[in-house]
Formats: sequence, C-alpha cells, structure tokens
Amino acid sequence: MAGARRRIVVVGGGVAGLAAAYALARARQTGVPVEELLIEGKKRLGGVILTERVEGFIIEAGPDSFLEQKPEAAALCRELGLGDDLIGSNDHARRTYILHHGRLAALPDGLMLLVPTRIWPMVTTPLLPLRSKLGVAREWFTSPANHREPDESVASFVRRHFGDAMLENIAAPLLAGVYGGDSEKLSVRSVLPRFWEMEKKYGSLTRATLRAMKQRRAASAGAGNSSPPLFMTLRDGLDQLTAKLAGFPDESRVHLDRRVLAIEPSPGGPGGQADSCSRRFQIHAEGNVTWDADAVVLAMPAKECARVLASLDPKLSALLADIPYSSSMTISLAYGAGARAQLPPGFGFLVPHHEGRRMLACTFVHTKFDGRVPEGKSLLRCFLGGAHDPDVLNLTDEEAVALVRKELREILNFSAEPLFARVHRWPASMAQYVVGHAARLEEIRARLEEHPGLFLAGNAYSGIGISDCIRTGRAAAERALQLVLRN
Ligand SMILES: Cc1cc2nc3c(=O)[nH]c(=O)nc-3n(C[C@H](O)[C@H](O)[C@H](O)COP(=O)(O)OP(=O)(O)OC[C@H]3O[C@@H](n4cnc5c(N)ncnc54)[C@H](O)[C@@H]3O)c2cc1C
Repeated sequence: MAGARRRIVVVGGGVAGLAAAYALARARQTGVPVEELLIEGKKRLGGVILTERVEGFIIEAGPDSFLEQKPEAAALCRELGLGDDLIGSNDHARRTYILHHGRLAALPDGLMLLVPTRIWPMVTTPLLPLRSKLGVAREWFTSPANHREPDESVASFVRRHFGDAMLENIAAPLLAGVYGGDSEKLSVRSVLPRFWEMEKKYGSLTRATLRAMKQRRAASAGAGNSSPPLFMTLRDGLDQLTAKLAGFPDESRVHLDRRVLAIEPSPGGPGGQADSCSRRFQIHAEGNVTWDADAVVLAMPAKECARVLASLDPKLSALLADIPYSSSMTISLAYGAGARAQLPPGFGFLVPHHEGRRMLACTFVHTKFDGRVPEGKSLLRCFLGGAHDPDVLNLTDEEAVALVRKELREILNFSAEPLFARVHRWPASMAQYVVGHAARLEEIRARLEEHPGLFLAGNAYSGIGISDCIRTGRAAAERALQLVLRN
C-alpha cells in the first residue's frame, strides 16, 4: 500500500453524499493522494431531490428550495458556476394562509416562524382569540429563569411562551409543513435551536428576535444590501445542483443500483491479522460486490446506517435505528389558463391537524417562483403524510389525486380540471428530532470514536434542510481526508 492512494467510500447519493463525494473529487483533482467512490442503492443520484419537466412545467417531486438564511446551498451553487441560475422567491407576493374553522386566514405579517414582530397584524388576526393575544403580548416579559434544560417538546416550549392557540393554529401546522412532524414529540433544542438559545440568553423570544432583526438590518444597510429573499432555488429546478455535483467523480468511481448491505472491519486492516497497511473497512453490497476503504462516509437515512452497521457495532446500530422518520407524498396538479383566477393570491396554505383534513399543506408554485409554469398556467403542490398519517402512502395514485382534489374543492371552492397530475412518495425520508435527540447524538459521537474512519452525514443529525445536508456531507469528507492523510 505504500504510496497508494487512500480510498474514501461515500455510501448514499443524495445531496449529502454528493456533497461529500464532490469535496473528495476536488481534493483528488488538486493532487491529494486520495480516491473517492460513491455507492448508491438506486438507479439514480439525487436522493429526494428530483425535478421533472412535463409540458413546460417544472415539477419538484421532493424539496423545491432552500432557506436563504442557511448559506451552504447557495454558496455551493456559486462555487459550481450556477450562481446566475439562483433565483429568489417572489416575496412581494408572499402570503401564507392557515385553515381555521374551515376557512383560510392569512398568517399575520411579521411572524418570524412563531415569533410575532409586528403588533397590529397580531391584534387583528382571526387565528388567535383575544385571551391568547394578551398572552402573546405578555411574552415580552419572559425571564431567562424560565429556560428548561436539557430539552423539552416544541409544543411545551411554544405553549409556555405564547399559549395553546398559537401552538395549535400557527406553530404546529408550520412545523408539520416543514418536518412532517408532531410538535408534541419534536425537540425544541434540536428543531428550533436558535429559539432555544434565545430563551436561555434573553428569556423573551419576542425581545430577542426584534434585537436580532435590528442587527441584521443594520448589517445589510452597512453592506448596501436590500433584504434577501426568504427562499432560493435554481432556475431550471433543484436537480441542476445534484446533476452538477454528480459530474465531479468520474463514471468509474460511481456505482449505481448497488444497495450496501453491511460494513465490516477489514480482516487485514489496522489491528487485523494480515498486512498492517491494509485498508480499514470492507463494504458489501447487493450483487455480491465488495469494496475496501480507508474511510467511509455514510450518507444514508439513519435506519439504513443502523442496518449496515449491525454487526460492526450493535450499540451504535441501535442508537441510529431509534431515530424516527416520517413519510410524505407530494401531489402536483398542473392547470391551464383560467384556473389561476380562481385561487387566492399568495404562496399557499397550511392545514392544522385539528381541522380534520389529510392535506398538510399546498403550495401555489406559480406564485412562489418565476419560470415554473408556462405563461398564465398554474401549478399546485399538495403534501400528504407526516407523523400523524403514516398510512397515506398506501393510497393509489388515483386515490391520492382524488383526495387532494376533494379537499381543494372543499377548502378553496376550486374544482378546475387538472391538465395532469404527478404523485411522488417519500417513505421514511424525514428524520424526526424528538425530545432527547441532542443526547442521542452525543452517544452516537462517543460510539464513533471507537471506529476511526467511519463518518455520518445527512438529514438525521443536525438539520434536515438541503443546506444542513451539504454542510454535514462536506464536513464528513473533510474529516475523512484529514484522517486518511494522517495515517
Ligand atoms: C417531500 C420533501 C420536501 C422537502 N422540502 C425541502 C425544502 O423545500 N427545502 C429543504 O431545504 N429541504 C427540504 N426537504 C428536506 C431535504 O430535501 C432532505 O433532508 C435532504 O435532501 C436529504 O438529503 P440526504 O442526502 O441526507 O438524504 P436522501 O436524499 O434521502 O439520500 C439518501 C440516499 O441514500 C441512498 N441509500 C439508502 N440506503 C442505501 C443503501 N443501503 N445503500 C446505498 N445507498 C442507499 C438512497 O437511495 C438515497 O439516494 C424536503 C424533503 C422531502 C422528502
């Protein structure tokens, strides 16, 4: 092995694994003595990022954008030469509704996720009864002494600060829309870390948020920037990013349709019987294929990591297996000219659980981003599933389309005939950071210390957004590089 290139294998070709493989390929191209392999269980790369182009419509089957406030995705697009293709959401037209007693009510202006920053819209919103509005105003006086360690549910945290109505009518549907999660179970420390820290430092989230906004405004005024859009995406769809990333490792280093079954220590690896310079791990995949590796980046869902690590480290495997996931389904309905006039203005609506519907949310894609639909036409993207409705994946495509059309008719009085519909299922795709997630991560980190050369990336650990996955993928690749070059 003396003088041989070190081999780092990335398992899982979603955006996290692609970002890891990209970092390794770039290192190799600049002369670092390393080679990357990317192994993916399916026939295509991209994971849940999948863009379809149908009759001039750009349909995002999974995620449709990333938050501007998390910089990694946009930075990577720029690094890859896609900077000119970045587009922002049409925030001048941003209005989101919540279904409330069967009717749509606009989310109050100035709401920063769950923290009100403007008085009048909160006073006038029909989403909160008068008693809750007084409670929201009292939040200003919350003291840091109320902070609870080590963790608590998002529901309990929001109730303490803003009361039941704020939780049920606003915060819970917002979180269900993003995480497909149950706020009674989700961990505030892991899902809303910024608010958890704010409480620790300032007590009141309202005071802390207003203070942060003031600082941000001053910083962007100083830099001469206008306020950035809330969401960003790529002009021709998010798979522009994954396609570009996939071009970095050359074809001989990418293995598709090879589901990894097990990872084991190499019999001849460090501590093994044979050649002390041999590689550390063996990776066994379907089709009776085995690769060896000096380091491995596992960028698959935690449950899959648990399965492949079962014999290497049963304790680590059990910790990973315990991270719950929710499933979801997107139903995209494309409409011809004329339908748009029957829809309210804005980005779409969210449905609280207690409204008794199966739809979690619906995005009016034609308003949110430019260039997604042919002139004058419209596109609705409806979400089903989440923690409360795991059985939804059993619906046939026809049943799912009929269900969302029925709910659109009842909620919006909208019964236009779609030109076509596309249904996409994402089983066990969204990791749920339940109460105690941070403590579980500590235990996972401690177990990983026992296995130098094994690294984890993806949406199961420190953020489920695209930017979070890019951050964890690149960080895992960098740590793997440091390790193999040191040894
Ligand atoms: C419907 C939906 C909408 C979303 N919307 C947004 C959004 O708008 N903005 C945002 O920022 N985030 C959004 N997210 C979250 C975000 O898209 C994901 O968290 C992120 O893309 C996950 O990337 P990943 O690489 O960790 O995992 P995945 O994309 O799940 O990739 C994992 C890969 O591992 C492969 N794999 C699994 N098992 C094996 C095995 N045994 N062997 C080999 N390969 C294996 C899989 O086939 C897959 O390709 C959304 C997610 C979903 C599902």
